[in-house]
Amino acid sequence: MYGKNAWEKYDEAQLKEVMDLAEDYKKFITDAKIEREVVVESVKALEEAGYKPFAYGTKYAAGDKVYFVNKKKNVVAFKIGTAPITKGLRVLGAHIDSPRLDVKQNPLYESSNICFLDTHYYGGIKKYQWTATPLAIHGVVCKKDGTCVNVAIGEDDNDPIVGINELLIHLSATQLQKPGSNVVEGEDLDLTMGSRPTKKGEKDSVKETVLAILKEKYGMEEEDFLSAELEVVPAGKARDFGLDRSMVAGYGHDDKCCAYSSLRALLDIDETPEYTSCVALVDKEEVGSNGASGAHSRFFENCIAELVEATGEPLSRLKDALSNSYMLSSDVSACYDPLYAYTMETRNACYIGNGVVFNKYTGARGKSGCNDANAEMIGWIRRVMDDANVNFQTAELGKVDQGGGGTIAYILGNLNMNVIDAGMGVLNMHAPMEVISKADFYEAYKAYQAFLTAKF
Ligand code: MN
Ligand code: MN
Repeated sequence: MYGKNAWEKYDEAQLKEVMDLAEDYKKFITDAKIEREVVVESVKALEEAGYKPFAYGTKYAAGDKVYFVNKKKNVVAFKIGTAPITKGLRVLGAHIDSPRLDVKQNPLYESSNICFLDTHYYGGIKKYQWTATPLAIHGVVCKKDGTCVNVAIGEDDNDPIVGINELLIHLSATQLQKPGSNVVEGEDLDLTMGSRPTKKGEKDSVKETVLAILKEKYGMEEEDFLSAELEVVPAGKARDFGLDRSMVAGYGHDDKCCAYSSLRALLDIDETPEYTSCVALVDKEEVGSNGASGAHSRFFENCIAELVEATGEPLSRLKDALSNSYMLSSDVSACYDPLYAYTMETRNACYIGNGVVFNKYTGARGKSGCNDANAEMIGWIRRVMDDANVNFQTAELGKVDQGGGGTIAYILGNLNMNVIDAGMGVLNMHAPMEVISKADFYEAYKAYQAFLTAKF
């Protein structure tokens, strides 16, 4: 159903499904805030559903369930279909990184009785949104001896939180004259870590206190920051949003709402599909998808190559497996917000509650950098959505020349797959607290299932 509010169609039983699915999702994004954690939680869910790590030398056949993990930050899962893999796959691809602050390699310093931790922001953020708000530190510290320890500070109710200082309004006359982009400067996004000296009258004694705590809790020395990946994210749980509990507020909906609904869509399908189903969860989208764990990595193509061989097809036909594939680039879209109506064009915007949203193209300055989905594919998608009674809508990313952005769609398009962006509208996108509709989440989940199982 095109352009209709999904809430209006639910009966009691469906309403319960919508709310229950949102509960599962809230738990997921509370437990998995960074890409490494998403991979851990995803593998747990895959294993529970009977998926096994790919084993070279094993022959795979219809109904087999297999997954690949790449560098602990990228996971790809497949359910082998009844048709040869060279007939193409049905791929759901989402990214599992979100905008945040990364801790620098040499981050710790003390100034005026305060110990600070220096950061470098990751992805597109409004820097002023990150001050005076509860923050947590997630990640890993790897030591010279090869051991790694996971770090999570600020999530347990008994944990302290950290945060970034904000200038009091009383002294903000100069600051508030600055343009929004540098009201808070990137180099000033330093976390306050402590203020209690260990020893009387000694230099950097507050820093010593903080280092002693890190040593006790994680066995780390100051130099171990060199080989750490610590990500600063908003502290706390995902929560229901709105008095009617119709929405979820949380950190990192972009793009964990699509990652989780895609994964669940795959796991919840009982039948063996005709075309091999695939869910690819990738890292680094917010910084251009480069590097080994990003969508540009050869890893994804290599996984498919492995399966072409392992299902008894000639590797020389890998190109058919790719060219015949259909993919939904599961990523979020800018939800129409009446408070910022001047940024949107109302006939080509997505509205909260109207279901899964398809972006034929994204890009900026004349669609530059976009994947532009084929009309033929969209015609088929419309039929698949209507046959499955899924509420869907179409959108552009705001008004022409208002800004723009991209997703991983073009990267898989470059492998010659048929790709379209499909996700859900987000309010406050890229802010520390993002908001999505539970109905949109449910419709996306249903859309992904319909896509994986639909005939041509
Ligand atoms: Mn984003
Ligand atoms: Mn995204």
